[in-house]
Amino acid sequence: MNSLSDNEKKAAMKEKFESLLNKRDVKENSSSLTREKLLSLIADVKKSKTSDKKVPRDYWLLQHYDVLEVQGVEKLIVPVTNATSDVMFYCSSDSLFDILHETHLSIGHGGRDRMIKELNLRYKNITQNDIKVFLNFCESCQQKRKAGRKNVVVKPMIFSHMNSRCQVYLIDFQSQPDGNYKFILVYQDHLTKFVVLRPLQTKRAEEIAGQLLDISPMFGAPCILQSDNGREFCNKLIDDLKVIWPEFKIVHGKPRHSQSQGQGSVERANQDIENMLTTWMQDNQSTSWSNGLKFIQFMKNRAFHFGIKRFPYEDMFGCAARVGLSTAAIPKEALNSLVDEDQLQNTLTAMNVSSQPDNEKVIEQTVLNNPIKKL
Ligand SMILES: [Zn+2]
Repeated sequence: MNSLSDNEKKAAMKEKFESLLNKRDVKENSSSLTREKLLSLIADVKKSKTSDKKVPRDYWLLQHYDVLEVQGVEKLIVPVTNATSDVMFYCSSDSLFDILHETHLSIGHGGRDRMIKELNLRYKNITQNDIKVFLNFCESCQQKRKAGRKNVVVKPMIFSHMNSRCQVYLIDFQSQPDGNYKFILVYQDHLTKFVVLRPLQTKRAEEIAGQLLDISPMFGAPCILQSDNGREFCNKLIDDLKVIWPEFKIVHGKPRHSQSQGQGSVERANQDIENMLTTWMQDNQSTSWSNGLKFIQFMKNRAFHFGIKRFPYEDMFGCAARVGLSTAAIPKEALNSLVDEDQLQNTLTAMNVSSQPDNEKVIEQTVLNNPIKKL
């Protein structure tokens, strides 16, 4: 009964979505392709590819499109120039709803940003507007939004670009030193909440500057550095950084006075890190928390952050955090017996064969079963 009503709901949603889509001016949404247009493009591209006397339009077509055969079905794709990049498909307007719907459910009613990230990996011509329109029709999301609005307390500080501000603070572990390590450096990007954790022997500016010089060239340098250790400390830190990296221009942030500016959240984050570290040490029967920090860092970044309602790792890197094959879409039983690449390839092929020859399923399977590219 339930699945029937779910199907009915979906059909109603699809009808509303498509009627709205059809009303839209085609020019306004130039990336949308009707099925006829898509099929004619496929035919044109194939002709251009084999043409001996290419005219400018052939070159233009081949620059923008290619045709990939997926289990007997021809798909319009973006030309693949780099062997390591994922295949990106063009979808036709009649399959748009199903793609949006399936993606939306597969990421647990993911919001606009997660939808964009997810879809941008696979489809070239799905616009933010398509996603926005779709989300307005999802009842569950609308209800969640209404309910959630009452609970919004503090709007997190929003900055226009990644890394515009970072916080640097220390956790004191002098009571249980790990060899020479007595402190933990917590470096956090304000926007994505991505953290980097490093063990420190001292809390001297020189040592912290050394760590920041390792971190910044990897993730990009922030414009504003915020620290609890006072203005003098911050200035010293920035001066030390400039000596080694003259191009690096950074200013120190205002000290945070109130809870609303994040002091409370820093304390909570510290507590969180300490708790995770304690659990790690117990589980691994180790007192070497300097080793545990690497895993805590990864766990924190890959976990959903309730403050920003996103995954810090995904925000930073634009893809989900992976742990080799254990995060790929391969059944556990198959995973255990895998040793080399040939076996991996066979498993993926077997998974592909068992998929249904339904068009959208094929696209989905092809992309999902491309984890080699995603490793
Ligand atoms: Zn939803």
